[in-house]
Amino acid sequence: MAEQPVALVSGANRGIGREIARQLAADHGYEVLAGAREPDRAGAPDHEAITYVQLDVADQASVGRLAERVGSDPGRLDVLVNNAGIGGRTGYGARLADADLEDIKEVLETNLFGALRLTKAMLPLLEQSPHPRVVNVSSGAGQLDEMNGGIHGYRLSKVGLNALTRMLADDEAEARLLVNSMCPGWVRTDMGGPSASRSVEEGADTAVWLATLPDDGPSGGFFRDRKPIPW
Ligand code: NAP
Repeated sequence: MAEQPVALVSGANRGIGREIARQLAADHGYEVLAGAREPDRAGAPDHEAITYVQLDVADQASVGRLAERVGSDPGRLDVLVNNAGIGGRTGYGARLADADLEDIKEVLETNLFGALRLTKAMLPLLEQSPHPRVVNVSSGAGQLDEMNGGIHGYRLSKVGLNALTRMLADDEAEARLLVNSMCPGWVRTDMGGPSASRSVEEGADTAVWLATLPDDGPSGGFFRDRKPIPW
């Protein structure tokens, strides 16, 4: 088994995931497996401790292959960041009366079932880690507290992802696996657009903090800017 702690980040070829991978490698000494649907198109890794691995979270075969690969090399997994996400085709102004069920299913397939599929596949390895952590990159769009209409699939997917956080935190309490949801804020990426208020460095910060929590850190919470926020 490798000595260095190992992190896996989904959707790490661009945007917030790419920056989470960079910070874990450059600032925290992790060997980082950076998930990319098309690793050959991801460009050069941002750090020598980052390796691109093929990962489509919507494809069970891809997830299964990666779990086998990580199990044999590097043979350990300490951190999983479920970051991969899509927004879907439905806008903020859309009404449920006009809901596009196919669009909703597509978004759930990546943002919710993708995270569940990947987590399930990696749990046997995470449970062997001395300090396992799972970070679910959620969104304020999934907060029930102030939920309003539009972006149906996206909102439903993040509500579901937050529920996964709660269930997994309960299941894995004895294994000392800390699992939390976070919202990166509005970030300048392909998804967030150029007018967003935050840089990718700012957007990645809370995810990296949660990925590197001490053993007495929180589990089963929802955070933005390193502070709890309502579900
Ligand atoms: P982004 O720039 O659009 O990047 C999305 C990443 O997810 C890409 O690497 C993409 O890969 C990957 N991805 C999509 N479908 C995938 C699949 N089936 N399997 C594996 N990877 C897949 O988005 P971002 O802004 O960095 O968002 C990252 C996360 O933050 C998402 O979960 C998003 O919901 C959340 N978030 C973002 C904002 C924001 O303002 N940007 C706000 C709140 C929450 P490809 O290059 O192959 O498409």
